[in-house]
Amino acid sequence: MKALVFEKQGTENLKVVDVEKPEPKEGEALIKVKMAGMNPIDNMIINAIPGIKPMPHIAGAEFAGVVEKIGDGVTSVSKGNRVAVYNRHFDGSCDMCRNGMEMLCRNGYIMGVLSNGGFSEYVSVRQENLAKLQDGTSWEIAASLPVAALTAYHAVKRGGLKNGETAVVLGASGNTGQFALQFSKEIGAKTIAVSRKESLAEFGADETIPMQNAQDRINTITNGRMADFVINSLGEKFWNESFLMLGSNGRLATFGTLTGAQVNFDISGLYSKHATLIGSTGGSLAEFKELASKANSYKVRVWKKFKLEEGMEAVKELSAPERNGRIMLEIG
Ligand SMILES: [Zn+2]
Repeated sequence: MKALVFEKQGTENLKVVDVEKPEPKEGEALIKVKMAGMNPIDNMIINAIPGIKPMPHIAGAEFAGVVEKIGDGVTSVSKGNRVAVYNRHFDGSCDMCRNGMEMLCRNGYIMGVLSNGGFSEYVSVRQENLAKLQDGTSWEIAASLPVAALTAYHAVKRGGLKNGETAVVLGASGNTGQFALQFSKEIGAKTIAVSRKESLAEFGADETIPMQNAQDRINTITNGRMADFVINSLGEKFWNESFLMLGSNGRLATFGTLTGAQVNFDISGLYSKHATLIGSTGGSLAEFKELASKANSYKVRVWKKFKLEEGMEAVKELSAPERNGRIMLEIG
């Protein structure tokens, strides 16, 4: 089978080669990958995260496909099922797993980091990690569930966003931003997208505003209340701005550091606003299955689709300043 492989970290080292097709072990299903999403984590796997294995390595933390073959003991899926893949290996038995936080499993890891990922024609996956897709779910949506959608879904839930509150999403046209808007709207929040791009009304944004003067605009829109919930996946560059968007009892969630990870932070604002700072990563298996069961009701904007052979270009395009939407790898 063909796979996008690197023997040494570095985008320039990516190449498509023939590798051995995996055989599903007991409890596993062999997935013929149809589509994979390109995310900052893949860029980090390919370029930065130490200790990646196995080597040579196949990245790809987000993918969906069709069950091609099942191993012994597999009962939850069968050949031909269309599935999305929960990308965390988990043991199901540690305290985190027992409390429904498989993404924090003490013996777990992300597919594509400590195992081969989905930038490949086939991947063998444990049946517990598979969610069947509703009829009509596009591959673009299916391959956006594991990282882009789930990360945003969990962060919005963790932020305790309620009907009638105001949510602000920074980087709103990005991978997670598009979904954060849709989930906030679904709850019944007033949603403000911060983006250089055109209106994001199609994803549920009530207002789309540029970062410049965003604080003043939010002040006007909310009649001085400011935001109840802010999602900032951009990191360093807009950290202070995003904190200033928060109103009393506000919550600021972060799960990304696209512009860097080091910030200076005046904590007097934190306590005087009675604010909560939320770190969030991935989402639980239950949330993933919940998302898969209603995936048809969501939209995704795809900016560019690449073939596996164009993987190197796909990684590079992730940081293109003009990017407006997702980058996907069309594989099957
Ligand atoms: Zn566990």
